[in-house]
Amino acid sequence: MASLLDPSARGRVILVGAGPGDPGLLTLKAVEALRSADVVVHDGLIDPAVLDHAPPHAHRISVAKQRARHTLPQEAINALIIAHVRAGSIVVRLKGGDPFVFGRGGEEVEAVRAAGLPVEVIPGVSAALGGAAEAMLPLTHRDWSSAVSFVAGQCKGLSEQDWSGLAGKSRTLVIYMGVANAGAIADKLMADGVDPGLPVAVIEKATLPGHRAIRTLLADLGDMVARENVESPAIIVAGEVVLLSDAENRLRTLAKQAESLA
Ligand code: SAH
Repeated sequence: MASLLDPSARGRVILVGAGPGDPGLLTLKAVEALRSADVVVHDGLIDPAVLDHAPPHAHRISVAKQRARHTLPQEAINALIIAHVRAGSIVVRLKGGDPFVFGRGGEEVEAVRAAGLPVEVIPGVSAALGGAAEAMLPLTHRDWSSAVSFVAGQCKGLSEQDWSGLAGKSRTLVIYMGVANAGAIADKLMADGVDPGLPVAVIEKATLPGHRAIRTLLADLGDMVARENVESPAIIVAGEVVLLSDAENRLRTLAKQAESLA
């Protein structure tokens, strides 16, 4: 199969994770792939500094939502990629975050393979990882959390989902695409038995200009999102690790631990 080690190989597609926003979070392999591109098919919210790694002559195609225009349906994106690969182009399919975390990368790989064409995937920094680092919020911690789950908050049949086992003591739950539904998600988690006092954080525009991380308790999540006018893209993090992201709280916790040891 064609690989990055064979830059002369034509007619192939490379799915590339562009990371959560900051162009500095691209991998070296992502940059290498972009440099080799004849065609770059990209989502919205990609920094121009990322696209600048592609040669000036590379054809840049946005499949993003633009005011009047709708996002291209997945089948149309697949067809577009396949047509360019068949024409002998190196197609870089650039995706926000990581291609295999809520990025439909799996569907695109299947489509390209079904067409009998070579495809490879370069991972990217997913929003949870970029956002957690920026907010100084460890997703796992030996004292506080030994498991982390990524769930999609905007999915078929939210009411039938049961994530209660994924949230609570010693666990971290990260919800992608959930801010528009935040109140309903919080209500559902509490109805399924999660403590209304569980700390939650909303990380908005992670690694992008205007980024912020705001915290509250699960029972107040929906209200906080409305009060603070949280905008997309944002993730929700639920778990005790959220307290670690707040330096003052961390100090208080440590002081308490020290007291109990004294
Ligand atoms: N493949 C992407 C996720 C795509 S789904 C990844 O691995 O990150 C889109 C969702 O990702 C958004 O609704 C939001 O929840 C999250 N997201 C993407 N970029 C983000 C950012 N810079 N800050 C916060 N959340 C982000």
